[in-house]
Amino acid sequence: MLRNSQKINIVLKTKIISIKELEKFGAVDTLNNQALSLVEQQKNIWETAARNYEALNQLKTKTFYFNHLEIIAQFNPERIRSSAAKTDAKSIAGRPCFLCVKNLHPDQKGILFQNKYLVLANPYPIFQKHLTISGIEHAPQEILPNLVDLLDLSQNLPGFTVFYNGPQCGASAPDHIHFQAGNTGLLPIDNEFENIIDNSSGIFCKNNCKIITSNNYLRKVVILLSSDKYQLIENFKYIYYSLSNQTNSEPKMNIICNFINNEWKIIIFPREKQHPSHFFKTGEEQIIIGPAAVELGGILILPREDDFNKITKTEIVEIYNEVTVGSEKYNNLVQSIKNITVN
Ligand SMILES: [Zn+2]
Repeated sequence: MLRNSQKINIVLKTKIISIKELEKFGAVDTLNNQALSLVEQQKNIWETAARNYEALNQLKTKTFYFNHLEIIAQFNPERIRSSAAKTDAKSIAGRPCFLCVKNLHPDQKGILFQNKYLVLANPYPIFQKHLTISGIEHAPQEILPNLVDLLDLSQNLPGFTVFYNGPQCGASAPDHIHFQAGNTGLLPIDNEFENIIDNSSGIFCKNNCKIITSNNYLRKVVILLSSDKYQLIENFKYIYYSLSNQTNSEPKMNIICNFINNEWKIIIFPREKQHPSHFFKTGEEQIIIGPAAVELGGILILPREDDFNKITKTEIVEIYNEVTVGSEKYNNLVQSIKNITVN
């Protein structure tokens, strides 16, 4: 009789892709290249992945221009499973967890990272190279104990933008720790960093770490910049607890992380709620949207064509206003950052 951990190891082994298999699809010298090769391998052998990556080439998009930023609307019907995912405790308890290794599709393979995560090709992509990076153990989606992993992943995936969705703001598996990553350069925010700095409401310094705040970017944002991992984590914790409302649950947030020129950039979007009012309206007025890190990064995923056709700048402003943190809470956060930093 096999013990449980032995069973997990056997299942995991069948899911890890061999370097030999990856080599057929490209260079495999770094995790970044292995991940790129994995997406190609999965497109080659897994019908769902092949179909959905191919469909990306025909997706309708349109761009909305605001003063110093842009927002791209993308009509992507396959993303309905995320945008309208039921993530209440009862629904989650009543379904098999789709990120647990034993429940992965027979054709799905992954790359083991730090003996803790499987790097997988996302079969329902938004990006040409779209990864899901899920814990090999079924453990809750929470950032504090796993922030160091987000930093390590970003460092090892320099061609990707890595992101985290909080359990109450966009994660479709709030019960299973996971990150996602998409090839860098596709999210508008990847190219708007200078604009955010130029229009920031404050740039502060603390122990080798820069903290940039902006409420002039359609959505309120806090950015941490540093090459010092320890200080980044300490400052992140400070922001986390400043946003915390004394309950046990994690403050709502989406995070986008890059590692560029030997420095991490952690972009934090403090959130007010999961869905905007438009999601709950009926008939013509309803817009099905589940804002998460990708949406906060500037790509609005709309799984229904009607919504894609009718959305205007007015609704876009309303949606960002409603789902990101309110002015009072944001101002309190900026004040608490000021209290520990120098300008
Ligand atoms: Zn799970």
